[in-house]
Amino acid sequence: MRRHILIVGASLAGLRTAEQLRSFGFDGAVTLVGAESYPPYNRPPLSKDVLLASSDPATALAALALRPKECLADAAWKLGVAVQSVDLAARTAKLADGEAIAFDGLVAATGLRARRLPLPGGERHRYTLRTLDDAIALRARLRPGVQVAVIGGGFVGCEVAASASRAGCAVTVIEPLAAPMQRAIGPELGQALQALHEAAGTRFLLQRSVAAFETDPREGSLHGLRLDDGSLVAADIVVEAVGSQPNVEWLGGNGLDLGDGFLCDHHLAIEGRAGVVAVGDVARFPNGFADAVPRRIEHWSIPAVTARRAADHLARYLSGRRPSEEPFAPLPTFWSDQHGLRIQSAGMPSLGTRIEVLSGDLTPDAMRRSGMALGYWRGDRLIGVVAVGLAPAQFVPLQARVAAGAFEGGDAK
Ligand SMILES: Cc1cc2nc3c(=O)[nH]c(=O)nc-3n(C[C@H](O)[C@H](O)[C@H](O)COP(=O)(O)OP(=O)(O)OC[C@H]3O[C@@H](n4cnc5c(N)ncnc54)[C@H](O)[C@@H]3O)c2cc1C
Repeated sequence: MRRHILIVGASLAGLRTAEQLRSFGFDGAVTLVGAESYPPYNRPPLSKDVLLASSDPATALAALALRPKECLADAAWKLGVAVQSVDLAARTAKLADGEAIAFDGLVAATGLRARRLPLPGGERHRYTLRTLDDAIALRARLRPGVQVAVIGGGFVGCEVAASASRAGCAVTVIEPLAAPMQRAIGPELGQALQALHEAAGTRFLLQRSVAAFETDPREGSLHGLRLDDGSLVAADIVVEAVGSQPNVEWLGGNGLDLGDGFLCDHHLAIEGRAGVVAVGDVARFPNGFADAVPRRIEHWSIPAVTARRAADHLARYLSGRRPSEEPFAPLPTFWSDQHGLRIQSAGMPSLGTRIEVLSGDLTPDAMRRSGMALGYWRGDRLIGVVAVGLAPAQFVPLQARVAAGAFEGGDAK
């Protein structure tokens, strides 16, 4: 009988897994189910070019589209409908439109959704950014002179701030930590990048959090944000860039740990269950690059590497072969674009306990002129590197240095 693999989530990770299944020789049926009505598209431009483009949704989608390879010509696509529940013991899934689908192998590729602050008010003026629809709705409000308050100074918050400031908006970023992007890259580089944003007119309110949305309930208008120190930040619109939540609820009721994405082993099998894998942002997996601790990694590079590993596992499982003995130790890489400068990261800088300048210096002028790079050490090991404004040819050897240390002290397979 022809085997059937159901892929839940039809975005980057789901698409790449489908393609990899074919490359590992799986010739059974593949079905991709996606809650969004769009075919797979690229998310990184949503906080960058898409917020500055003046195109309609169809043109924006055409520019972002991830085109499936020829090997998926016979795959079945069900878009605009979510998987509501799955019974892993019975190997069946139930869709929101009532359809039931039986499967032999399951891929969880459901990614994340934007978190929102649990505070009432100002609904018509509050935005998050995860989907194309989110970006198009936000873009319509980014007009010269509009006061934009961005809650959260992480990467998405800073990219939105840069785009809004380029669109002529008056931007304020409110961030509880002492520097933007601090959790990912440390306070020194966070402060240096803050200076770049400030030079473009963006205001930062650091070590502050939002206590309330100040609104006029009769008119439904927003005055601004009341902060924890009692001050008021005037705002026409608010972007909540306060992190994201894994989409895991649809696999509830199967006795799984759904605490932070799907807990996987080093084959990406969810809690070691054969034939059930997770990929991309929603997968929490041990990475031999660092250690045995399972972590989720929200980088664009991760869907491709997890897809390859998970597809290998599924193809072997469905043809009765043993799992791969190969170690799984992909090098995480990440980039961001802010105010015309590219930030590139390799490894896991957030695990570093000591930071040193590897080249250049942290002043905005120097970063623009010749670029800079920071090394992040965990003990004696270079665990990550972050560069700003560095040419790709200069970044590649640094990346190789980080990759070269991959198994020093690593105890995961
Ligand atoms: C605004 C933004 C900017 C970014 N910029 C960068 C960047 O500059 N550099 C970088 O390295 N990374 C960046 N990223 C991260 C990168 O885009 C993600 O890591 C990547 O998109 C993850 O892909 P995924 O397929 O795992 O998840 P997603 O892209 O989130 O896709 C999951 C899909 O599953 C669907 N789904 C959810 N639940 C269900 C269900 N029950 N049934 C069916 N379908 C479901 C969702 O609707 C969604 O379409 C950015 C992300 C965002 C949001």
